[in-house]
Amino acid sequence: MEKKTKFSVSEEKRRILLVEDDVINQEMLKESIGNVYELIIAETGEEALEIVRERFRTLSIILLDLNLPGVKGIEVLRRIKGDPAYAGLPVIVMTSDGEAEVECLTLGAVDFIPKPYPPSKVILARILRTVELYEDRDTIRWTERDHLTGLYNNDFFYHYADQLDLYHKDVPADAIVVDINHFHTVNDRYGKAYGDKVLKRIAENALRVINEIGGIACRCGPDTFLFYCPHRADHEDMLNKLSAKLEDDNPGENHVRLRMGVYSEVDKSLYVDRRFDRAKLAADSVKGNLANPIGFYDHSMHDAEVLEEQLIDDFPTAIKEKQFVVFYQPKFDVRGDEPVLISAEALVRWNHPELGMVSPGVFIPLFEKNGLIQTLDNYVWSETAAQIRDWKARFHVSVPVSVNVSRIDLFDPYLIDKLLDITEKNSLKTEELLLEITESAYTENAGVIVENVKQLRKLGFRIEMDDFGSGYSSLSMLSVLPIDALKLDMQFVRSAFRERKETRLLEAMIGLSHSFDVPTIAEGVETAEQVSALKAMGCDIIQGYYFSRPVPASEFERFVTEKQDNPVCA
Ligand code: C2E
Ligand code: MG
Ligand code: MG
Repeated sequence: MEKKTKFSVSEEKRRILLVEDDVINQEMLKESIGNVYELIIAETGEEALEIVRERFRTLSIILLDLNLPGVKGIEVLRRIKGDPAYAGLPVIVMTSDGEAEVECLTLGAVDFIPKPYPPSKVILARILRTVELYEDRDTIRWTERDHLTGLYNNDFFYHYADQLDLYHKDVPADAIVVDINHFHTVNDRYGKAYGDKVLKRIAENALRVINEIGGIACRCGPDTFLFYCPHRADHEDMLNKLSAKLEDDNPGENHVRLRMGVYSEVDKSLYVDRRFDRAKLAADSVKGNLANPIGFYDHSMHDAEVLEEQLIDDFPTAIKEKQFVVFYQPKFDVRGDEPVLISAEALVRWNHPELGMVSPGVFIPLFEKNGLIQTLDNYVWSETAAQIRDWKARFHVSVPVSVNVSRIDLFDPYLIDKLLDITEKNSLKTEELLLEITESAYTENAGVIVENVKQLRKLGFRIEMDDFGSGYSSLSMLSVLPIDALKLDMQFVRSAFRERKETRLLEAMIGLSHSFDVPTIAEGVETAEQVSALKAMGCDIIQGYYFSRPVPASEFERFVTEKQDNPVCA
């Protein structure tokens, strides 16, 4: 929504839209207020709506007669208040029908002028009070609203949700998150303007729904909408209404699909943002599930949440007490006749005193969300570097080991210093500590990351792109990207060896990686058949249960001693 620029009264008269079909009444009002305000007159509802559409930014207030020919005054009021673009325009209703008062107030009229008209100074005072009130609110509106859709923004929404709780303590409420599936592809395929149009239509639907069921709505984040409303049972109906007519007429096509997460009958002792975290969890649980687009927050999610809290609480002690253990999984060079150990990957596990061995799949995503990952990764890198040093000292052989570098680490301005510090402390060459960076990290804020990675390579660190093929590979980036190896995503390797043996994509990926002159690493390789097929496709390095699971350092030593007997330059 554009900021409404108003000039002061001394420079320009404020403009009033007078919707009145009766000429005598028009004249009376002109007489009463015409020398203070500029009057634009509409004689029918249709005319009024058209003027609102075209000139709403220049209007200060609307005086609306209820008894109009054609579209009635009540309907005009409903349409104005139902459209987020104009809903903020103050409307004063003029009527002789006392009964209509309640309905008009419910629909959003600010005040009444009874008919027959009171003396002009009463009318003037009422109008002035409303205009001033509105102008103050207009300034607030500018900050409280999302400019594209006119819905509340996050901060104000949370604040108003708190207020609703104050006034309606005993009314059970639902926290609801609505997301658009794959909104970025809508933007990519049809352009940003089209994407904006879709967002505005959702907002219009949202307002209609809110008018009907009560509560408040906001746009939070590019394609996420929040609703806080009285508890209801038919969320499906709500989702259908929100999804109505989002697109231009494309018979048979429906690109924009919404998903909904509901935290039903919220616990009001929780902070409002926590309630919406729960609704968000529920929405994420149906991500990509077109058959069932509504997820409900339930006990299993609650348990997961409690576990997460425990893990976060236990983290500092775990670091202090070295409960995190680094396991090592070998990577074999399969280019020759016999596979040769070329390096290993360090994979962390949490040996938790109560929960037993916890897999990184549980805690890494959590620690990535709250930033603890940096501490953990630093710990893993140091442990790994110390281990390489130990093997070198005891077996006189260097086994380079790759460590995982999280997306979050790449934004750490001290990343390079930390890595140099670790290698120096352990008297390692930088090429002995390989760095795995997940593919998806490259797509975000690519500039900063490419610069960091270039710098690291200049210092001798070698970079492996992890999980390649898993998502938004930016193929064009491959040519500018400084990397030393491509690690194909495990799922991707796996699907190539299902019943249908669809291996063409895999072959193409290996070909691609060779055309950039970097070796391909396949991970998650479990069978001899997979090894020979991958070899035949030209894959250079293989990691997976076929050779070994990730094992503790002491168990990994058998690979180191084999290498000691069979030294081959990495
Ligand atoms: P990743 O880096 O892609 O690691 C490969 C995962 O595949 C490991 O899971 C490994 O145990 C598993 N794997 C290896 N071979 C096979 C196989 O043949 N079959 C099957 N089914 N799985 C195999 P893990 O250890 O559970 O680690 C999961 C993910 O957690 C890793 O994926 C990595 O993204 C992350 N991670 C692990 N350790 C660290 C760490 O120290 N720091 C960071 N930032 N992330 C870590
Ligand atoms: Mg990895
Ligand atoms: Mg991987």
